[in-house]
Amino acid sequence: MNSWLVLITDGLEESGQKILRSSCKVDDRKGISADELIQIIGNYDALIVRSRTKVTADVLARADKLKVIGRAGVGVDNIDLASASARQITVVNAPQSTTIAVAEHTIAMMVALARNLTQADASMKNGQWLKSQLMGSELYGKTFGLIGVGNIGTQVAHRAAAFGMTVLGYDPYLDNEQIQKRGAQPVTLSDLFVRSDYISVHVPLNPETRNMLDGQAFSAMKRGVRIICTARGGVIDETALLQALESGQVAGAALDVFAVEPPGLTALVAHPHVIATPHIAAQTVEAQARAAVDIAEEILAALEGKPLRWKVV
Ligand code: NAD
Repeated sequence: MNSWLVLITDGLEESGQKILRSSCKVDDRKGISADELIQIIGNYDALIVRSRTKVTADVLARADKLKVIGRAGVGVDNIDLASASARQITVVNAPQSTTIAVAEHTIAMMVALARNLTQADASMKNGQWLKSQLMGSELYGKTFGLIGVGNIGTQVAHRAAAFGMTVLGYDPYLDNEQIQKRGAQPVTLSDLFVRSDYISVHVPLNPETRNMLDGQAFSAMKRGVRIICTARGGVIDETALLQALESGQVAGAALDVFAVEPPGLTALVAHPHVIATPHIAAQTVEAQARAAVDIAEEILAALEGKPLRWKVV
């Protein structure tokens, strides 16, 4: 066995840990604090995180032996990629492991918005019977606007089409034919805003997409639009969203991700027309098992100098 030492800071399913143990020593320190991480990172050859751990320039400055960082999932916005690259530390992720889970959660949120499911359940648990107040609307015949037609966006497009929705897609990094093949009609962003009854965001968080849905964007949308975001907090300007909900411009929003996590009981989370979930879109048994195996295999490949499937930097 090699003497590689792998640190896991946000947990990893046993299936992945087993693969790693076949040729590495594994140190599972789930929930470790930022200070502790800085103190011990110098001992490890590999680090595996999910979204909680922030792999900052300060952490990397102490990572003398670190060869590879693995993100057991998709988003790598919690990793300072420029610092990692400058230190020749490889970053890999498991981009396909959670696609179906996130797509299904997106659809679950859309249905919950359309049929007031969370209010209906809360009222029943409060001993009420609000049958006449909880009038919903059908998804059939409505227009669904996808911002970002990547892995998750594509799966969401297919599922929305199954409800009889018209699916529009905006993605400046794909050509029209690619967007069509992925199940959406290619449109400009302003066209998507004007036409969509539901808008769902599936872009990575980066300087270009930060606050992409801001006050100006909400004003350009159809009045009464419903917004779904399972992508990343920060893509939506939360203050502008709250204002748009209060004015009725946005009729409802379903959010799995927040600019600050956990957000606490903010006015946005508490708003009666907001459905909030604690970043659980990828939290399925199947997705976590897949992510663990995918990232373990990729970490071993990186340590052994083999070709990589999902190198980020
Ligand atoms: P992906 O890379 O397959 O797709 C992202 C798409 O966004 C790409 O097609 C890209 O061209 C497009 N894009 C980039 N910039 C854009 C812009 N300015 N406007 C429109 N489109 C743009 O990624 P994915 O696997 O589909 O993941 C999408 C998002 O979901 C990411 O933010 C990821 O972090 C997030 N995610 C969240 C969870 C969760 O638990 N809630 C889990 C997995 C992924």
